[in-house]
Amino acid sequence: MPKVELHLHLEGAVPPAAMLEAIRRHGDDEVDARVLADRYVFRDFADFVDTWVWKNRYLDSLATIEYVAEAVAAELVAHRVVYAEAFFSPTDFAEHGLAPQELALAWRRGLDRVPGSDVALIVDLVRDTGPDRVARTFDQVREVAEEARIVGVGIGGTEDRFPPALFQPVYRRARSAGFHLTAHAGETAGPPSVWSALRDLGVERIGHGVRAVEDPDLVRFLADTRVPLEVCPTSNLRTGVVSHLDRHPVWELIAAGCAVTVNTDDPAMFGCTLDGEYELLACRLDDGAIREVAGAAIEASWAAEPRRVELRRLLET
Ligand SMILES: [Zn+2]
Repeated sequence: MPKVELHLHLEGAVPPAAMLEAIRRHGDDEVDARVLADRYVFRDFADFVDTWVWKNRYLDSLATIEYVAEAVAAELVAHRVVYAEAFFSPTDFAEHGLAPQELALAWRRGLDRVPGSDVALIVDLVRDTGPDRVARTFDQVREVAEEARIVGVGIGGTEDRFPPALFQPVYRRARSAGFHLTAHAGETAGPPSVWSALRDLGVERIGHGVRAVEDPDLVRFLADTRVPLEVCPTSNLRTGVVSHLDRHPVWELIAAGCAVTVNTDDPAMFGCTLDGEYELLACRLDDGAIREVAGAAIEASWAAEPRRVELRRLLET
């Protein structure tokens, strides 16, 4: 099935072979395939965040970013992901002396090298850097937004320590500059995080949002307004946010009539694929319901209408 992916972090999508090549180029011969595979098993969410930072030390030059971007795009094309909106997190690479503008353009160049790849970018402004730096990063990437095809802004990172309301000014500016808006909310923090992303930031989509199920009023609101949720089932299981697929909120959210999409988040780190996420749904949903989820991703995307028409046609075939 041709698929659309809306919640994918490029840095977490680098296939292991390309990551090992980046590690080799960095000059580290201690990390082999086995060490990398061991690092990609997580005790909890904090351990996942530590590993995320650890891996980024090897993506230390624009040439390496371009190289891994090409590998990510090839993987997406191979898995029939016909359109994606993908996060990149520029501040994670400041320690390598890489500016957000040049990083955005390097991701763009690498992604565009692969025929058939169609990936728009969302800048993850990384909430842990605080509101002032987030605002600065936004201003920097804005300079190259058109050239790098950056269509939206988001905030990932530590939800409870950096609640959405802190970032209201930059989200206001992003909206008036024509960017689409999403935010990680309701992944590790509870319903207030989702309410705040909706009310204080005016987001058009929610990253994860699975803990919305703890508040029936919020589930009703999400179902009524059809604000899309970028749900990532395997990610939640691997980081320990959800203990078992049977207890995953995705079932309740779909049954309540929410606009649920499924996504991989960090497929290389979680060892998952978008096909695999749809297969997980197949244990409880019939074909029609699965196609509805796939269709929801097209409607929730920020692709221009002519492209959405093409994507709808592709899904029907
Ligand atoms: Zn994410």
